[in-house]
Amino acid sequence: MTNILVVGSMNMDIVTRVGRLPVPGETIHGLGTDFHAGGKGSNQAYAAARSGAKVAMAGGVGSDSFGLEICRKLEAQGIDTAAIAAKPETTGIALITTDSSGENSIILSPGANYSYGVEDLEALNLSLYDVILLQNEIPGTVNRRVIAMAEAAGIPVCMNPAPVTGFDRDQLRGIRLLIMNETEAEVLSGIRIADFREAISAGRMLLEEGIPELIITLGSKGSLYMDGDGKIIEVPAYPVEAVDTTAAGDTFIGAFASVYYAGKELADSLHYAAAAAALTVSASGAQSSIPVKEQVYAFLE
Ligand code: ADP
Repeated sequence: MTNILVVGSMNMDIVTRVGRLPVPGETIHGLGTDFHAGGKGSNQAYAAARSGAKVAMAGGVGSDSFGLEICRKLEAQGIDTAAIAAKPETTGIALITTDSSGENSIILSPGANYSYGVEDLEALNLSLYDVILLQNEIPGTVNRRVIAMAEAAGIPVCMNPAPVTGFDRDQLRGIRLLIMNETEAEVLSGIRIADFREAISAGRMLLEEGIPELIITLGSKGSLYMDGDGKIIEVPAYPVEAVDTTAAGDTFIGAFASVYYAGKELADSLHYAAAAAALTVSASGAQSSIPVKEQVYAFLE
């Protein structure tokens, strides 16, 4: 079993359905509200645990009921929450309004995710883990410190530079694996990506920066693995009816890390991750649609 540490974000997504989005100053009636635990960090932790890894989550939540609820949900998946710090700020909150045409507006308040600081990392013993997963929803200072600590301890780091806006590329130094979607790869490489050929050009450019391995996910087109030795593996997506693509990338990352770092062969790991992500997109919701490994293996049969 792989031991995975996720240092990252945890949010409560508050989703209200409306007939149409309000204009400034207007009050309208909502059609119903749902609460979903989210954040790229907790989604990836959740996906890795559901694929069978032993997972610990580190990051900041508020000393409020949302923070407690998020921790309770992670613990229900067997995820170790001892390294989650309770902060004076509120838990990260995404206020999401969606209308009947699928249009939405989102206000993301990072709250306690941005109060998690380098001083909180002192409580972590990185040598307990086989791999560390990072994203770009906590301060870059924390990510850089985790990368330095992991390098010193010889533990590989997988970096998901999402969201890519504001991603400081000095966080690419010292990582083992860069996993990103095509938009993130476009921003980081400066190359427009519409197909595998262009994704390979973008990947080559990024590998030249000294990153040992990378994966570019291309939505319904599939995914691409490349390494510094010239290995290239293209994996088509599994054809499914896309109901809700939320958390597809997070599922791919958590599922891939879970099996690859447990010793599964590379190409098999990529197919496993693609199958897990396909199952996530074929059901609505974020964490609630992330499959367990038995579902993924049944789908692959
Ligand atoms: P993100 O959610 O970060 O934007 P992608 O959209 O690239 O990530 O999706 C990640 C992976 O999920 C893809 O490489 C693919 O394997 C799978 N996936 C995404 N969308 C679909 C889809 N419509 N059908 C099947 N698989 C999908």
